[in-house]
Order: sequence, then C-alpha cells, then structure tokens
Amino acid sequence: MPSDSPLFESALGRFPDSIRTDLEDIHRRGGVIPAERVVTWTKELQLNVEQLMMRLLPVAAAFGRPPLSGFHVGAVVQGAGAAWKHQGVGNLYLGANLEFADLMPDAGVHAEQAAFNNAWLHDESAVQALAVSAFPCGACRQFLGELNQASQDLAILVPVAGGRDEGRFQSHSPASLLPQPFTPQELGVSGNFLSQMSHGLLVATGDAEVRQALAAANASYAPYTKSYAGVALATAEDASILGRYVECVAFTPSLSPLASALAQLNLQQPCGTAWAIARATLVEVRGQSRQQALVQAMLASVAPEVELRHVHCEGS
Ligand SMILES: [Zn+2]
Repeated sequence: MPSDSPLFESALGRFPDSIRTDLEDIHRRGGVIPAERVVTWTKELQLNVEQLMMRLLPVAAAFGRPPLSGFHVGAVVQGAGAAWKHQGVGNLYLGANLEFADLMPDAGVHAEQAAFNNAWLHDESAVQALAVSAFPCGACRQFLGELNQASQDLAILVPVAGGRDEGRFQSHSPASLLPQPFTPQELGVSGNFLSQMSHGLLVATGDAEVRQALAAANASYAPYTKSYAGVALATAEDASILGRYVECVAFTPSLSPLASALAQLNLQQPCGTAWAIARATLVEVRGQSRQQALVQAMLASVAPEVELRHVHCEGS
C-alpha cells in the first residue's frame, strides 16, 4: 500500500517491484533487513553490500522526524554477528534522526545512534560497517568511541558530493574521523556498548511491562555512573518496544532510555505516521532519578496524554 510519505515513496521508487514490496513493510521487521535478503538483493541489483547500504540511505532518511532542522538523516549499520550471517554477510539495521519540537535540540537522536541502537536491541555484539547520508557530526564520532574492540575496524561509508544517486561513496575509519579521542579508557572502562550485559537488577513486584523495562535496564550501558535504566513502551495494539540507556564517556552524547525506545518505535511504525504510544514505564536504579525528568519531558513532547510510570529497581 502506498505510504503517505513522499520521501518514502521516492526512496522506494529506486528499487524494482520485487524489493519495493519488501521495503514497504520494513517497519514490520523493525527496520531490519535479514542477511538472506541482503544477499538476494545484492544479486538482483548487481550491487555489493556497501552499495546496497548506500541505496538504502534514502529509505532510512525517510523515517527521520526533524521538525527543527528539516534535515533528514539516514543511517544503515551492517552487523557482524556470526549467528545472523548468511554467506559472510550480516543483517542491515536502519536508523533515522529524531528531533523534538518543544525540547532542547540536544534531546534529539542522531541517525547513527538510531542505527546502532537498532542493531544492539537485536542482539548484535559487533558491527562491520556504517553508512550515513551525511558526514557524522562530532557528537556521533564521540559516540562511536563506545563501540567494543571488535568494531574498531568499522568502515564508515559516506556518499561523495552529489554521489548518492550513483551510489559512490568514501570509506573512513573511526580513527581518521576522530583523531586523539577522549576514550572510555580515560575513566578506566574498556568500552563495550554493544556487549550483551546483565546487571542483576531486581524489582520486588511489578507487572509484565515493569519487568520488560527492568530487562532493558539490566541490559543498559552505563559503566561510568552505574545509572542503569530502561523503558518499556506499549502501543495501542499491545506491541512492546524497549529502550536502554546508553552512556557516553564524555556524557554527551548519551542516549536516554526513552530516546532509545522512540528511535526503535519510529522504525516499527509505518513511515511518517503519528507516534502510537499507549503506556510508558521507566525503571531505574533505586536512589536515582537521573532519567525521570528528561524522560517525562520527552514523553510529554510525543505523547502528552500518556503518564509515565516510574519504578525503582534494586541491585542484586
Ligand atoms: Zn550526529
């Protein structure tokens, strides 16, 4: 069914009908293109994986919600997880930028963060390539510093000027984009944002949504402050979307658990449709309310009728 988003329709128009049909429903797969499809599509389009990633950037960018800048950014991450690989090719994960009209601009989510968040929430523990429709900003270059060692050979693919249509791109390394970085090691942390974690957090009581938010908190990445936090969003159709806090060594640009959940929900809704949030639950470590104010403000921005449920958890 045609989308109401002209950007999405335009992006889909660059694919043959056989692939377009799949892409129209990409929200049903949470913005993930499984490795088997990647292999099939590269053969059909006679592209290599990197060229396919470039071709997909306008599809990802169409999911952007930039009410402040009007600048849509799309990103595609190729996972390196052996469990999902097909013929040596990893899954592809889309990401798009989010801005919030009535919040400080730095509350937004950048497309690169959204794509890595997507891969992480699908249990990828390493990535091998990132394609992005514009050069990563300084904050995103810092964010890449939280990737684990297995991702340090990451290829960052950026279209050359005017090259998006032709699929021409340049490849950069994290080190070349951010020389002399401030690293997790400066604070005594090895840095492994994509690692699968469990912090042993517990709640005394709670329904299914509290336990889902607890699971997200247990898997969150906050090695500097230990302010583990997770969010569970429920849609009107009772779909559940989780978000995990991601902390950056410089603290900026960290990703709040609601930002993580919204970035994912955005990819699970048909492109360009209104936020569909029925309930929201935040779980964070007892004694801390570090996320509450920002999460409440962000939730009020996208779903003012939804009241945030805030629950504390205990360390084991
Ligand atoms: Zn950025």
